[in-house]
Amino acid sequence: MDKLVSLCKRKGFIFQSSAIYGGVNGCWDFGPLGVELKKNIKEHWWYTFVQQRDDMVGLDASIIMHPDVWKASGHVEAFHDMLVDCKDCRKRFREDHLEDTVKCPECGGELGEAKAFNSMLKTQLGVSEETAVSTYLRPETCQAIFVNFKEIYSSSRVKIPFGIAQVGKSFRNEVNPRNFIFRSREFEQMEIEYFIREEDEVELFEKWQGEIWEWFLQIGLMEDKMRWYEHPKESLAHYSKRTVDVEYEFPFGWGELQGLANRGVYDLTQHSEHSGKDLSFFDQEKNEKYIPTVLEPSAGADRTTLAVLCAAYDEQEVPSGKEGKTETRVVMHFKPSIAPIKAAVLPLVKKDGLAEIAQDLEKQLRKKFNTYYDQAGAIGRRYRRQDEIGTPFCICVDFDTKDDNCVTVRDRDTMEQVRMLMDEVCAYIEKRIARDSD
Ligand code: ATP
Repeated sequence: MDKLVSLCKRKGFIFQSSAIYGGVNGCWDFGPLGVELKKNIKEHWWYTFVQQRDDMVGLDASIIMHPDVWKASGHVEAFHDMLVDCKDCRKRFREDHLEDTVKCPECGGELGEAKAFNSMLKTQLGVSEETAVSTYLRPETCQAIFVNFKEIYSSSRVKIPFGIAQVGKSFRNEVNPRNFIFRSREFEQMEIEYFIREEDEVELFEKWQGEIWEWFLQIGLMEDKMRWYEHPKESLAHYSKRTVDVEYEFPFGWGELQGLANRGVYDLTQHSEHSGKDLSFFDQEKNEKYIPTVLEPSAGADRTTLAVLCAAYDEQEVPSGKEGKTETRVVMHFKPSIAPIKAAVLPLVKKDGLAEIAQDLEKQLRKKFNTYYDQAGAIGRRYRRQDEIGTPFCICVDFDTKDDNCVTVRDRDTMEQVRMLMDEVCAYIEKRIARDSD
């Protein structure tokens, strides 16, 4: 994990927030490569679960909502972590993260009684102190979907079963943010609320399990590092009839990547009661009005990005070029569709007009996908730099290019080089990065 965190900082994937001021615990900034990586993951998710399906529509709702939303949803009452303080060192812990609830894991001192602590981040709306209204930064994106349910179904001509998807920021005042971006206070979720008839809940729950699993494989996670966790009945959240999580084996242990919950009719019923607006669905085909049951696949974009980074990281011993010596080659094996940069264009040398040819080629490719131009240093070092940031293809312009209009395209994973006409490079790479061929 330390190696990955240091690579992320060194190469511009992820930085600690406000680092020059000492940092903010639980907040992270995605740098030039990180923003591309996370964006590709979110777009792949949207492409798979919204654009490629005829039963899904999207939403991009505001982060700040009416304070009553959080009363109706149960968050004001029940979005609590049980916290325990050490009577000696005063450190605070989440009770469910402690193996021993008597002794402090840090100093061995005595732990006090567990107390409830609401994890929502409060904020004020309005300029004057007297009239300002307190509300919360949303702790999950899904409530906006429930609140907009009627607007969406009456404007989109959707029929049950159908889903509404949203990707966006959520905020939780986590007591112990930790494990890099795994547990942060500000993070992004990719959530779907899928509205169904109750009698289909078992069959569709299983179908979603299959689809979620398959997507994680498509973006480059390995099956042997993934498993399902079924929440026992007695520890289910207040709204849930059944919850399973996809867990991933991170270097620090197994952790939740995505939840899939059967929320029943809880949320739409609560919002109907609190708002006084009828949020039931009128099924024209069956001439029947009912509150649909909701299945919720809910993934974290940051945790998924972390899993993709962990899965991609690899170290290989390769000949260093010096007699009998080897060196460590760090490679990020991102799937081409997910990689922040798809192709690097490298002239073998700067002179003899090679740099100009390479720059022209890069300008052409740039219109289609993210590229990088690098002419500094020995070609082997330049390949290594691209391997470290996971660029799947390096295109080398050499002395023969001027005569035959051909370049070599080096594959990051096999290190094989194929020679092809410059005119063919774009189509070749586009084909390799197409999501479906991954
Ligand atoms: P945990 O038990 O790890 O606190 P949770 O069960 O509360 O997570 P959910 O409410 O189910 O999480 O949220 C759905 C998804 O949002 C999670 O699977 C996770 O990927 C992501 N997520 C939740 N909390 C955080 C966080 N603090 N930092 C980063 N991602 C998070």
